[in-house]
Amino acid sequence: MNTIYALSSGAGLAAVAVVRVSGPRAGAAMAMMVGGPVPARRAVVRRLRDPATPGEAIDEALVLWLPGPASFTGEDMAEFQVHGGRAVVSALLGALSRQPGLRPAEAGEFTRRAFEAGRLDLVAVEGLADLIAAETEAQRRQALFQQQGGASAVFEGWREELLGILARHEAAIDFAEEDDVADAALRGVGARMARLEEQIRGSLAGAERGEKIRDGVRVVIAGAPNAGKSTLLNRLAGREAAIVSPLPGTTRDVIEVRLDLGGIAVILADTAGLHGVGGDAIEAEGMARARRRLAEADIIVWVASPDTDAGEVHEFDSPALRIWNKADMALPPAHGGYDRSLAVSARSGDGIDRLLARLSDMVAERYGRSEPALVTRERQRLALEACCNELALARQMTGAGAELQAEHVRLAARALERLTGRIGVEELLGAIFSEFCIGK
Ligand code: GDP
Repeated sequence: MNTIYALSSGAGLAAVAVVRVSGPRAGAAMAMMVGGPVPARRAVVRRLRDPATPGEAIDEALVLWLPGPASFTGEDMAEFQVHGGRAVVSALLGALSRQPGLRPAEAGEFTRRAFEAGRLDLVAVEGLADLIAAETEAQRRQALFQQQGGASAVFEGWREELLGILARHEAAIDFAEEDDVADAALRGVGARMARLEEQIRGSLAGAERGEKIRDGVRVVIAGAPNAGKSTLLNRLAGREAAIVSPLPGTTRDVIEVRLDLGGIAVILADTAGLHGVGGDAIEAEGMARARRRLAEADIIVWVASPDTDAGEVHEFDSPALRIWNKADMALPPAHGGYDRSLAVSARSGDGIDRLLARLSDMVAERYGRSEPALVTRERQRLALEACCNELALARQMTGAGAELQAEHVRLAARALERLTGRIGVEELLGAIFSEFCIGK
């Protein structure tokens, strides 16, 4: 096993940079650099020297010696906290590169080693990737729960229950000749399977919320051309993201900005105006994209204005906020079904805070809950769905004999084992660890 090293803190100017080393030669490399051993698990200040030019110090560093297996990777690890300048970091990395048996780490390699050493399961690895990427409070909370093993503990409990159920089936198979023993073994097993299936389905019901928190809730701004959608998006985003023009049909593509609404990540998208046929091919493509966006929207902000309101009321599949823009020109008609508290002027900014508050409330009501979701990714959801389907099949087979039932229970357990990475993960690892940066 190679010993790997990398800059683990962000690239660029910083007060402090963290360089980590992991593997069997971490201790020797550290001792070479600091001129002797370092006490375990204690922060000490040492002068770092490149063994190739021992006369000259690279920097003074805070050094940590974290012998395995109780380290992040499960291997021996050394950590150097040095001054964050580019030259310091490159001198340190250069010195490490000249040590025997050391090589630069690949993206996610520290975490991969942690996974391979059984320090983290796959769900915790995914939680860690999400924690590093978290931009909002809800994302942070959800990721931390997964990274700390909260979700894995539930999945592991379910797996144990499945193994318990399987043991009953196996006993029934072993004692198939003795009806009363076999019957006794299977007593109550149907109810246990039903209860477990219900619990897993319950967690799947929260999967959409978990995935939305992680990926961002999609809010799509739609309405007639020239209603002021781009202007509104710019207002909401507080910056110039979309091109605003007085000619209809210029927002040809879809423009996105990310917002943090009360701790929940929101992807706000502007769409080309939805209007009848006509326009050129590029505009038609823009409209096709707008329609697709609308179909994927979690929440729609429908914009009408005095100069574009055709009096039509649209029906949407997603919850919608119907707003009236250009209130500086005219207030909404009394009979159009408009909520006057949602009359805004995207141009002047009037009413925008009210609109943002309403939108935040809507997002919080649908996606903000204090208990973290168990499922935050499609991969996790598919594994749990497969588990549930096998359980349902097992329950349908009650009359067909313990062997068939046992097979489906086994497959249900296997789905959970794939979820946490106990089995069959080789093909997944590349995709999962490529999400990480070098140094993690
Ligand atoms: P979109 O086609 O719906 O994206 O509309 P734009 O954002 O490009 O705006 C169309 C025109 O309406 C532009 O000339 C904007 O300056 C104007 N406009 C947008 N919002 C307001 C507003 O609140 N009041 C007024 N008076 N004009 C606005």
